[in-house]
Amino acid sequence: MSLIDSHGRQVRKLRLSLTDKCNLRCHYCMPVDQEFMDEGRYLTPSEIRQIMEELVGLGVEEVRLTGGEPLVRKSFDLILQELSQVGLKKISLTTNAILLDKNFDLLQRYNVSSLNISLDSLDPNNFKKITHGDHFNRVYANILKAQELGFQVKVNAVMMKGVNDHELLNFVHFAEETKIEVRFLELMRIGYACKEQKDQFISAQELIDRIKMKTSLRSVLLPKDSTSFNFMTDSNGQIGFIASESQAFCGQCSRWRLSADGILRACLLKDDGRSLKNLNKAERESIYFELLGMKPLMRPSEVSHDMNRIGG
Ligand code: SAM
Ligand code: SF4
Repeated sequence: MSLIDSHGRQVRKLRLSLTDKCNLRCHYCMPVDQEFMDEGRYLTPSEIRQIMEELVGLGVEEVRLTGGEPLVRKSFDLILQELSQVGLKKISLTTNAILLDKNFDLLQRYNVSSLNISLDSLDPNNFKKITHGDHFNRVYANILKAQELGFQVKVNAVMMKGVNDHELLNFVHFAEETKIEVRFLELMRIGYACKEQKDQFISAQELIDRIKMKTSLRSVLLPKDSTSFNFMTDSNGQIGFIASESQAFCGQCSRWRLSADGILRACLLKDDGRSLKNLNKAERESIYFELLGMKPLMRPSEVSHDMNRIGG
């Protein structure tokens, strides 16, 4: 039995949020005075293991750990230990990289080889303005260190008009110089970003047009459920675009999301999900099949819940 919906979409990937807490306050993600859930509501490492064993049995192959900031979860090491035993083909991590230096050994021990790292500015002052955290140097050093240690690193940058779009070509240059893939994310209308940041949206096409004034772009072939579409520049920098707003990829989506408190959702943009907390195996399995019918085919419009709560 596997998880294939009536539109032929097979669930192969899970974004697993380990916490809604974070050591930054990116201005499009959460307010400075954000309130977080009680840690007593979190799925425990052994509950995560049980659920993952069941999902792997139904065809889920990959897990990406996210949050909030997954590296601030206190039992991060225990969770990795549990996940390493359930037969996943790949475990990867999305992080702001502040705590990476303390975790390289752990990540290597459990074969977490793919790191998506958020970096919205290459300028320390602008980084501080966007994230409300004075951590640029540590983050930048950790990105280069991760690459040196052989991790597969991608940098994610949310591009925003008047905030960091003047750095667009610097990011392209960074991709060319370091050979680290940089992916430009469209600002999504979700949670906090629906309120104050609405006017900062820039489409992927606008970014592409601007980049094309400096370099030609050759398409890169990627798997059909890739969230980004990618190009190589003349100087062999790889850049990608995650156009969740202007070119939503719902038709090819292979992902579910599990929040830190155990709510399983078929889509980041749909608030309705089903809680797996305190259920037995049979009850959880009936939810897995119910969820197959809950995956939208078209991008839902403005979404009120917060990205850090569901897991970006
Ligand atoms: N803390 C980790 C990090 O920042 O990489 C993982 C969680 S974060 C919610 C995951 C990704 O979601 C980050 O790349 C972040 O930039 C992105 N994100 C958060 N809010 C967003 C929004 N409104 N629009 C687009 N991307 C957003
Ligand atoms: Fe934290 Fe990531 Fe949200 Fe920034 S985008 S506030 S690093 S969870």
